[in-house]
Amino acid sequence: MMNVNDLIKKFEKPTDSNQLFYQAMEEVVLSIAPLLDSDDRYKKNAILERLVVPDRVIKFKVEWFDDNQNIQVNTGYRIQFNNALGPYKGGLRFHPTVNEGVLKFLAFEQIFKNSLTGLPIGGGKGGSDFDPKGKSDFEVMKFCSAFMTELHKYIGPRVDVPAGDIGVGAREIGYLFGEYKKITSKYDGILTGKPFMFGGSLMRPEATGYGLIYFTETMLELENKEPLTGKICTVSGSGNVALHAIEKLYHLGAIPVTCSDSKGTIYHKEGVDLDLLKDMKFNRRVSLEEYLEVHPEATYIPAEDYPADGHAVWDIPCYGAFPCATQNELTGMDAQNLIANGVEVVAEGANMPCTTKATNDFLNHKICFGPAKAANAGGVAVSEFEMAQNASMGKWSFEKVDQKLKTTMQQIAKRVVLTAKDYGVEGNYVDGANIAGFKRVADAMIAEGI
Ligand code: GLU
Repeated sequence: MMNVNDLIKKFEKPTDSNQLFYQAMEEVVLSIAPLLDSDDRYKKNAILERLVVPDRVIKFKVEWFDDNQNIQVNTGYRIQFNNALGPYKGGLRFHPTVNEGVLKFLAFEQIFKNSLTGLPIGGGKGGSDFDPKGKSDFEVMKFCSAFMTELHKYIGPRVDVPAGDIGVGAREIGYLFGEYKKITSKYDGILTGKPFMFGGSLMRPEATGYGLIYFTETMLELENKEPLTGKICTVSGSGNVALHAIEKLYHLGAIPVTCSDSKGTIYHKEGVDLDLLKDMKFNRRVSLEEYLEVHPEATYIPAEDYPADGHAVWDIPCYGAFPCATQNELTGMDAQNLIANGVEVVAEGANMPCTTKATNDFLNHKICFGPAKAANAGGVAVSEFEMAQNASMGKWSFEKVDQKLKTTMQQIAKRVVLTAKDYGVEGNYVDGANIAGFKRVADAMIAEGI
C-alpha cells in the first residue's frame, strides 16, 4: 500500500495535458493525510489508488455540417469517474480548450463536490472542443445532435446524467434532449438544466450563483464576520454563475462592482447594471465592451492592457471576491493584490479558479476562503432536485427549490467547518471540504467492496 507522498510522486512531472488533474489531485491527497493516518481502513482498501483512476473515459468523434455545407469534425468526451454514491453526475463543457486532461480534473472535483451535497450522485464530466461562440443556432443544433448520436449510448437516468457547464446552457441542453428523445423514443430525465417547459427545475439557472452566496453568508456567520450587506464585492466572469451571483448579492444589499469576459473587465463603481448584462450575455451574446454604450461612466479594461499573470478584477478593493469565470483565473499576484486591498472573504464560483499559490496565500493570511467543491455545489444540488422531480413526474415551486438549496448550502458549510475542526485544521475550508467529501465516497467504496 502506497503512502500519500508515493502516490503524488507517481504522478510527478505533470505534463501539459494532466497538469490540472495533478493540481486537483495533489490538493485532495495532501488534505486527507490526517484522515488516512487516523483510520487504516482507507489504506487497507487502497481507496486513494482506486479513486484517482476514472471508471471509464469515453472518447468519440463528432461530425457535423456547418452553414456552408462544409463537414466539421470535433472530439467528444464523457468521463465516468466514480459512481459509489449514485449515478455519474456532472456537466458538459463546450469550449476550444477542452481535452481529456481538463475533463479529468473537472470530473475528479465533481466526485467530492457531489459527495459534499449529501445527495445520491456520483462524479462525471464531459464535453467537446466545439466552440459555440460565433456559431449560428442551426450549427449549434447540428453539433448537439451529432454529439448525442454517440453520447446516448452511455447515459441514462440511473446511469449517468449530464448537465451544462461553460458553453452549455438551456439552448444546448434542449437540442441534446431533443436528439436523445428522437434516437431512443424515451422521455427520460437524462439531462438536467432542461428548460422548465419540458422537465427542468425552477431555479436551476440561478442555483450555482445563488448557492455560492448562500454558502458565503453561512461561512461569514460561522466565522463571526460581518455579512455582505452594504459591502463592495468583485465578481469575475459574465456567464450563468457570475450573473446569478451578482443578482443574489444585490438581493442582500451588497454592491457588486465588476464582471469580466475573455476580452476584458467592467468596473462600475456604483454597482454593475444587471439587466443590461443579462441582455448582453444571455440574449445578444455580445462582448462586455458594449456596456460602455449605455454606461459611459463605467470603466472597461481590455485584457491585453493588464499583465498576463494577473487579472484587472482582482485589483479593485473589495470585502468579498467571487471568481466565477474559469480554472486558475486568480493567480498568486491577484491574491496578493486582494489581500493588500483588505479582502475579507473569497468564495469560488467557478471550478478551481484560484491557483494553488493563491489558495495558500488566502489560507496563510486567514482570509475566509470557500473552495469551489463546497461553494459552487448549489448547481449540481438543484440538478439532483431536477432528477427527483423527473422521477416522480412532479414540479416543485420556486420557493421550495430555493429553500432546499439554501438548507443544502448551509449544511455543506457546517459539515466542512466541523470536519476541519475534527481533524485539527480548524478554519481551513479546503481541508475540511476535501476530507468530508472524500470520507463519504471512500466509506461507500469500502462498503461496496471490489
Ligand atoms: N457544471 C456544474 C458543476 O460544475 C453543474 C453540474 C450538474 O449540474 O450536473 O457543478
